[in-house]
Order: sequence, then C-alpha cells, then structure tokens
Amino acid sequence: MPVRLKIVQAGEPALRQASRPLTPTEIALPSVQQVIEHMRDTMRDAPGVGLAAPQVGLGIQLAVIEDRAEYTAGVSAEVLAERERLPVPFMVLINPKIVEYSKETVEFFEGCLSVAGFSALVKRSRRVMVEYLDENAHPCKVEASGWFARILQHEIDHLHGKLYIDHMETRSFTSNENLVRHWKSSSIQAVREALGLPAA
Ligand code: ZN
Repeated sequence: MPVRLKIVQAGEPALRQASRPLTPTEIALPSVQQVIEHMRDTMRDAPGVGLAAPQVGLGIQLAVIEDRAEYTAGVSAEVLAERERLPVPFMVLINPKIVEYSKETVEFFEGCLSVAGFSALVKRSRRVMVEYLDENAHPCKVEASGWFARILQHEIDHLHGKLYIDHMETRSFTSNENLVRHWKSSSIQAVREALGLPAA
C-alpha cells in the first residue's frame, strides 16, 4: 500500500527553515530509503512534479522530482513547447547545489503543493546546472533547461526555507480556478498587460 504523507501548508515553520545535508551513511539507512519511497508515493498521489522533505515536515536536504507525460495530456503542443516542458523520469536529489544559473530568465505561472490552490508568475533561470547525490549516495550532475530547470530551482528553494511566493510577481497571484478561467490561454505578455505590469 502506498503511504501518503501529510503535505504541510504555508505558515508551517518547517517550510521556512533551512534543511541539513545528509551523510552517505544516513542515505543508506532503511529509514531514509523508506522516506524516499513515501515521498515518491505522496508526490504521485498529489499529483505533483516535485516534493521536498520540508513539505512533509522533515528538515533534511532531500527532494523527489518526476514529470510524467500523462500530467500534460490535455495541454497543447504549442504551450508545452513554449514552456519547454518534457517528461522527467523519477529522480532523487540529496544535498543538491545549483552550481550554474543562466542569465536568461523565463516567466510562467507556477504553483506549489504547500500553497495549495494558488499560482503566480515566477521568473526563473532558463537553464541550471545542479550537483547532487542520488538515492545511492552517488555524486551526480545534471544540466537542465526549461520546465525541468524550473522544477529544480523550486525544489532546491524549499531546502533553503524559500517558497515561490518569495519571488513571485505579486499582482499575478491567482487561485487556480481563476488561472483556468482567465489566464491559462493568454500569453505571458498579455497577462502582464492585463494586470498592469510592465512588459517583461
Ligand atoms: Zn513547492
């Protein structure tokens, strides 16, 4: 039976604290391996494309990511291309560090399972390079762009006590219901204009 952990919501102190790194010995512990499994099941159940340990109340530098093709089944090819959104196989990030950020940024609506029901425009680097340990404590490096780069930046922020609302374009904050009703099919430029924001 998949275990579903409780995802805490904004206002929970755990979301605002910096997490501590894990040692390779700790990573090998059955208890940590079980947390990874439970976080994977919880992310899939939500469903979400990423989940960081502070979101389930744990102050450790651990996050899981997975973007499945089925999550974007109803999204047009045009929108997917604009967001540079491609499936990302399941991955475990431990002690991740962003070692390179592209100067080029891209802006899209972003949400978070810990700010349930809302979204806002967030500017992120289009590309990042991340060093991390996987679930076997093997050192890994990934160069990501587009939506994958956005997910990485979002999840790694969680491990430093940050939420997307810290970087959002505040006037764009919207319920997901209104995102679908008013903004989903508009270009970001049109959204900015309608909200009285300067062109990006
Ligand atoms: Zn989040």
